[in-house]
Amino acid sequence: MGMTKVTTENSSWFKEKIRVDQIEKYLGADGKDFIPDDAIEEKLHNDNTLALSTDKVKVREIIAKSLAIQTLSPEDTAVLLNVKDPGLWDEMEAAAGTIKKTVYDNRIVTFAPLYLSTTCVNNCSYCGLRSENGSVSRGVLTLDEARSEVEVLAGQIGHKRLVVVYGEHPKSDIDYMASTIEAVYSVKAKIKESENYACIRRVNVNASPLSIEDLKVLDKVGIGTYQVFQETYHKKTYSSVHPANTLKGNYLWRLYCMHRAIDAGVDDVGIGALFGLGDWKFEVMGLLHHAVELESRFGIGPHTISFPRLEPAENTPFINESNNIVSNDDFRKAITVIRLAVPYAGMILTARENAQMRKSLIHLGITQTDAASKIGLGAYNRTKGDMQDATRQQFILGDTRSLDDVVKELALMGNITSFCTAGYRCGRTGECIMDSLRTGAEGKLCKLNAVITFREWLDDFASAETKALGETIIKNEIDEVKIKVPKVYDHFIDYYNRTAAGERDLYF
Ligand code: SF4
Repeated sequence: MGMTKVTTENSSWFKEKIRVDQIEKYLGADGKDFIPDDAIEEKLHNDNTLALSTDKVKVREIIAKSLAIQTLSPEDTAVLLNVKDPGLWDEMEAAAGTIKKTVYDNRIVTFAPLYLSTTCVNNCSYCGLRSENGSVSRGVLTLDEARSEVEVLAGQIGHKRLVVVYGEHPKSDIDYMASTIEAVYSVKAKIKESENYACIRRVNVNASPLSIEDLKVLDKVGIGTYQVFQETYHKKTYSSVHPANTLKGNYLWRLYCMHRAIDAGVDDVGIGALFGLGDWKFEVMGLLHHAVELESRFGIGPHTISFPRLEPAENTPFINESNNIVSNDDFRKAITVIRLAVPYAGMILTARENAQMRKSLIHLGITQTDAASKIGLGAYNRTKGDMQDATRQQFILGDTRSLDDVVKELALMGNITSFCTAGYRCGRTGECIMDSLRTGAEGKLCKLNAVITFREWLDDFASAETKALGETIIKNEIDEVKIKVPKVYDHFIDYYNRTAAGERDLYF
C-alpha cells in the first residue's frame, strides 16, 4: 500500500462528482445559502450583543430557554459566546450538564473509528492525508483486511458501534463503501477467552459529501449516522485551506450534503466543524445555523454535533501557522455554548483530545466518545497497545487508552457506558425522535438498553476492576428504572436476567 499518485482531476469521475442541480435546488429564493457570513460577524460584534452579554438577567433568560430544550436563536447564541463574567460561565456549564442529563441521562455512548481508505484526491492544508503530502503512505483496505479489523474491534475490544472513515477517491467510491459496510456487518467475531461471538451492530459513516443517488445506496445498506463536517463555516477561511481546483474546494457541495442525505432517506445526520481553522465563535454560530436550517426545512435536527480540534499531523506545518488555534479555555466555552444552543443534539468528544482534557469536558454535555481508537490504515491488527505511526495516519491522537480504561473512568464519574444501537435498528431516528429527545422520553428508553448492553460488555470484556465498578453503576440504574419507569420494569428485568445468563442482543 504505497503512496497513491492522484491523477484524477481531468477524469470523468472527478467532473461528474459535484452535481450543481443538487446544490441549487436547496438555495434560498435569493440564491443565497443559509450561512450569512456578514450577519454572523455583525451579531458577534455589535454593541447590543456586547451589552447584553454583561446583563445577568438576560443571560439567565437565555439559559432558561436552553434548559427548556429550545434551540437558541443566533442572537441569543452570540450573546452567550461573548459572556466574560466567570460566574456566568459557571452557570452556563452547570446548565450544560443539566440539559445533557434531561435529554440523555448519565449515558455515554462509545464507538471506535475504522479508517477503510486513506487515499484522497483533496489537498486540505491542515490534513496529513492531503494529496501533496508525500510523507504519509496511503491505501485502501481489501474486504478481507476490513473484516480482519472488525475481528479485533468486535471480538477483542468489544465495540458494537463504529464510524467508518473514507478518503475521497475513485478507489473508495460508493460501491467500495457499500461493500465494506456489508463486510463489517458480516463479521461474527469470536470473543476472546469465550465460546461466544460478537458483531458490529451499527456502522456510522464519515465520508465526503455524496450525491442523492449515492446516499440512497448507503441508506439501502443500512447505516447509522452519516457524518460530514463542514470543517469551517467561514467562507473566506474555507477557500484558503481547501484549494479551488479540488472537490473539497466547493463549499456549497459540502454545505448541502445533509440536505441531500435527508432527501435520500438517510435521516440520521451528524454535522461538525474543525476547530482551529476559523474563529471559534464563528464556527459555533455556523453549527447553530446549520442545525436551525435542517430543523426548519426538514423537521429534523442533527443527531450529533462534532467539534474536533486541530491536531498535529506528519509533515503538516499548518497547525503552527494558523492564527485560530483554540485554547483549552475557549474550547471549553465552545462546547458549553454548543450544548446550550442545540440542546437536543448528541455531542461527540473524540480521542483527538488527551485523557485529562476529555475527563474535564465530559460533564459539559458530551453524549458520545470513542475509545481504544486507532486511525492508521489496518492499525487494529498492525500495532499493539497505544502505538501510533504518524506516517500512516491523518493526524496524531491525543488519547489512546483502552476501552476498559475509558469505561472505568466514566464509571468513576457516575456515567454508564452504553453500547446500545437499538434506536437506529428500531427506526427511532430523524423526525420521529425529535419530540422524544426534547421531552426526555428517549433518555428513559435508552437507559434500559444502556443497562442491558453494559451488562453484556462487562461480562464479555471487562477487567475485574472495571467489572466491580460497573456492578455498582448497574445496581443504581436498576433501582432507578424500578422507580422511574415502573411500567416496563418486569419486561426490563426479564431481558436483564436473560442477558446476565448469557443471551445476547436483547433490546427495547
Ligand atoms: Fe482528504 Fe479529508 Fe484530508 Fe481533506 S481533510 S485531504 S478531504 S482526508
